[in-house]
Amino acid sequence: LSERLSGVFDRLTKQGALSEEDVKTALREVRVALLEADVSLPVAREFIKKVQDQATGQSVTKSVTPGQQVVKIVHDALVDTLRGDEDPGKLKIDNPPAPILMVGLQGGGKTTTTGKLAKRLKDRDGKKVLMASLDIYRPAAMDQLAVLGAQIGVDTLPIVKGQKPVDIAKRAKQQAALGGYDVYMLDTAGRLHIDEILMQEVEDVRNVVDPRETLLVVDGLTGQVAVEVAQEFDDKIGISGVVLTRMDGDGRGGAALSMRAVTGKPIRFVGLGEKMDAIETFEPDRIAGRILGMGDIVALVEKAQDTIEAEQAERMMKRMMKGHFNMNDLKMQLDQMLKMGGMEGMMSMMPGMGKMAKQVQDAGMDDKVIQRQIALIQSMTKKERANPALLQASRKKRIAAGAGQQVSDLNKLLKMHRQMSDVMKKMGKMGKGKMLKQAMS
Ligand code: GDP
Ligand code: MG
Repeated sequence: LSERLSGVFDRLTKQGALSEEDVKTALREVRVALLEADVSLPVAREFIKKVQDQATGQSVTKSVTPGQQVVKIVHDALVDTLRGDEDPGKLKIDNPPAPILMVGLQGGGKTTTTGKLAKRLKDRDGKKVLMASLDIYRPAAMDQLAVLGAQIGVDTLPIVKGQKPVDIAKRAKQQAALGGYDVYMLDTAGRLHIDEILMQEVEDVRNVVDPRETLLVVDGLTGQVAVEVAQEFDDKIGISGVVLTRMDGDGRGGAALSMRAVTGKPIRFVGLGEKMDAIETFEPDRIAGRILGMGDIVALVEKAQDTIEAEQAERMMKRMMKGHFNMNDLKMQLDQMLKMGGMEGMMSMMPGMGKMAKQVQDAGMDDKVIQRQIALIQSMTKKERANPALLQASRKKRIAAGAGQQVSDLNKLLKMHRQMSDVMKKMGKMGKGKMLKQAMS
């Protein structure tokens, strides 16, 4: 595949904005990659269409081909789609005892995952956990959970033969309350395929315990089937998240994208083996890289982008050290800060800026503050921006009012500018070598 890709990329070497043709050509290969990773066809199609619109017209980073740029855009879009709003590893388990319902097809890894999560809750969060098997169909199923429980030091509900799943669930709920458990986990039975009886049974259990989390456990090696399963369970039971198992294998994990796209529910955990600690919080970046299988290209584009940003920062730095630092420069810095995600990103690229970054941060510079400061600079005249020393009290009032702020806000900005230009001047005098040395110390 990568040979095929590099062929495409060699043909696309012109710079500037991505044309529709550039994007189409590259996306043809991306589509193949997605399907090879077991992303379901309609999801792949939909995703490609979305990226097609997004990518066309975007600019191409220097020293990167349009095809490579498209791959990076695809990667970012994948990460975006895969990422949920919340922290995937954080289970909702306040108000003890909190019920967690584990659902899925037979052999998907429910029982194993129940044990893994119970252990995690116990070890990481210090929770007292009770596990109960509702699998009355497979003779060894209840014993399997009991053995796991003993192994990881988590209690299991005593086995009573002849009870229905709903009755076991009721008993677990009671026991969890009486025994002072923080969490009780219900490991349901699966079938090889979805059927009515199974769904009804899980629905009854759900109604009895009103689970705080309902986690669908799906084999990450299954492609299209996973989507149908997820949709069905979400429609009938309502799931709060997905656990993707067997991601220690060769599977590329395209099911993750499909399930996320179809159900809108977040992938929460990834199973990475049979052992009880072989589970990790879902990381969209990693799975995206795996689904696309073009990690080297993504890394290359990221590096090119970093290089260019560093070059820009250095150019600005040089000018400032020559003593050019007026309000326009300050505004450029503030704009850059917003773009690069705050002070840290910005300063990390400029040598010797650590101390100043801290100063500014201590002054409480979040995005909102930065935006307000930019607004103040924008309501100054050209002359004032070039030479803020000109500002008289009456003008200050007007400027502050123009930006919907107080004169004290403007004074703070002016003070910050003065301090920053002092630092710049000092650094300029010190010379770059010395400055670097000081920055390192
Ligand atoms: P259930 O029928 O859904 O309860 O599935 P089980 O938990 O019994 O798991 C079925 C098989 O898959 C067992 O042999 C597990 O050890 C194995 N298994 C579960 N999760 C993983 C995983 O993340 N990686 C690997 N390699 N095997 C797993
Ligand atoms: Mg099981």
